Amino acid sequence: MRHLILVLGDQLSMHSPALSDFDPAQDAVLMIEADSEATEVWSHKARIVMFLSAMRHFAGQLRARGWPLDYVALAAHADTSFAARLAAALQRHRPQSLKLLEAGEFRMRNLIAETCKAAQLPCHWVDDTHFLCSRTEFAAWAKNKRELRMEFFYRDMRKRHQVLMQAGEPVGGQWNFDVENRSSYPKKTGPGAIPLPAAFAPDALTATVIAEVEQRFPDHPGATQHFFWPVTREQALIALDTFIRDRLPNFGKYQDAMWTNTPAGWHSLLSAALNLHLLDPREVIAAAEQAHYNGTAPLEAVEGFIRQILGWREFIRGVYWLDMPAMREANHYGHQRDLPAWFWSGETHMACVRDCLQQTLAYGYAHHIQRLMVTGNFALLAELSPQQVEDWYLAIYVDAIEWVELPNTAGMALHACGPRFTSKPYVASGAYIHRQSNYCSGCRYDPAQRTGDSACPFTTLYWNFIDKHAKALGSNPRTALMAKNLSRLSDPERAAIRKQAAVMLQNLDAL
Ligand SMILES: Cc1cc2nc3c(=O)[nH]c(=O)nc-3n(C[C@H](O)[C@H](O)[C@H](O)COP(=O)(O)OP(=O)(O)OC[C@H]3O[C@@H](n4cnc5c(N)ncnc54)[C@H](O)[C@@H]3O)c2cc1C
Ligand code: SF4
Repeated sequence: MRHLILVLGDQLSMHSPALSDFDPAQDAVLMIEADSEATEVWSHKARIVMFLSAMRHFAGQLRARGWPLDYVALAAHADTSFAARLAAALQRHRPQSLKLLEAGEFRMRNLIAETCKAAQLPCHWVDDTHFLCSRTEFAAWAKNKRELRMEFFYRDMRKRHQVLMQAGEPVGGQWNFDVENRSSYPKKTGPGAIPLPAAFAPDALTATVIAEVEQRFPDHPGATQHFFWPVTREQALIALDTFIRDRLPNFGKYQDAMWTNTPAGWHSLLSAALNLHLLDPREVIAAAEQAHYNGTAPLEAVEGFIRQILGWREFIRGVYWLDMPAMREANHYGHQRDLPAWFWSGETHMACVRDCLQQTLAYGYAHHIQRLMVTGNFALLAELSPQQVEDWYLAIYVDAIEWVELPNTAGMALHACGPRFTSKPYVASGAYIHRQSNYCSGCRYDPAQRTGDSACPFTTLYWNFIDKHAKALGSNPRTALMAKNLSRLSDPERAAIRKQAAVMLQNLDAL
């Protein structure tokens, strides 16, 4: 055998450059399912189903082409670890080299490299052209910059890839329409009827995977009965078309809005399909741009959406590979508290957190503001250990893969990497959540109260955070106002906040 080509669960594209010169006469594809990928990286049941079902569907496509495929299924061998299964496959096939697309995760890259080394077999990594910015290009952009800012990277990407550009200028005369993209739903009427995202009832193959996951991983968090995610390229394309047609027009305006029983708002729900390579980011960006030129979606929405993919997604991936493995250990504030148990059950009195957690357990999904400004904001204000929070985020979302989960959690939500790639900690009191949602109207706490029996934990812990870090916040132009607002409180008020916060922090499980 010439090449044994390993296709990982997040590399499910027929256009993968690792497969470009595939020769069925002398190569074979290897795909490996392993319990360790669901247990060592603890995982929501729907996340396991997502990966396994998409992998098995992709394997069907390879077989339909008549390509030699060694598919190691979960139940196939006694040994349950990915490394052992890979080592056994290398023994079985004895290829001249193992070839694969660069792994998305640092851990997986090392694991594969070590297994090849032990088998004395060359490992041929192929550049992952799924991304528009290669790791080398990102490193060149970041060179000599101590602090990295997405906005500048995004503008470079717009120019380099000629996205929403006209005669060298951004279409519409500005790069950023963020100010128009922060509305909440009307408080009286709520979100109204939002067109449903495309949903895919499990076919026979997915139903088998669901049964197997329920039987094999009964103690894992989350539900499988609502599973509706696209698991094939054909389904992912339908999901993309449906989003562009029905939901993109209001994506921008309500990007930051939250409402009970509205798990996705106007968001795209395309992250898992993108991360598993069922969709190419270029086609997603092109479809959104075209919607603007066709006049079916306003520029604010289109720019806001493209910014997420061409800007944030590429930036986050670049930063991950630049700063690993240190990023995994980063802990700017030295926070050490344990994750409250209710993160896994959703059983908390805080209505906002409860809503976000319950939908997360049901679907393996929460949208960005729920992840950043509800669960993430709480984790930072409650001084939770970044590593425990990171493990939770990696476990609980169907789209979670470390290259995208970790920088978002450590860098964006927890400010654990300091100012390296975010200019300020994203902290907010209950007032922000009250403004952006209807959660507070059904809550035992009151967002306006800093102290007392009904004090909102977000509000108390926010002021406690500002009090603790007043000096650093005061010297940063982006947070100076927070520190200034604190100085309006009297000394006894500040003392009372500190006292109440100390009690809350000692009793996080009871909140
Ligand atoms: C603490 C935290 C953890 C996160 N963990 C993950 C994760 O494990 N996997 C993941 O894909 N995203 C993660 N994100 C980013 C973002 O929240 C999700 O991509 C988004 O919510 C997915 O839903 P959607 O497809 O409806 O996105 P939309 O809001 O419709 O956005 C469109 C697309 O843009 C991309 N995107 C948007 N925001 C980001 C971002 N900040 N970073 C990278 N890509 C982005 C996604 O591919 C997404 O599908 C995390 C964010 C936070 C704050
Ligand atoms: S009062 Fe506080 S805890 Fe309750 S929903 Fe509002 S912000 Fe969340």
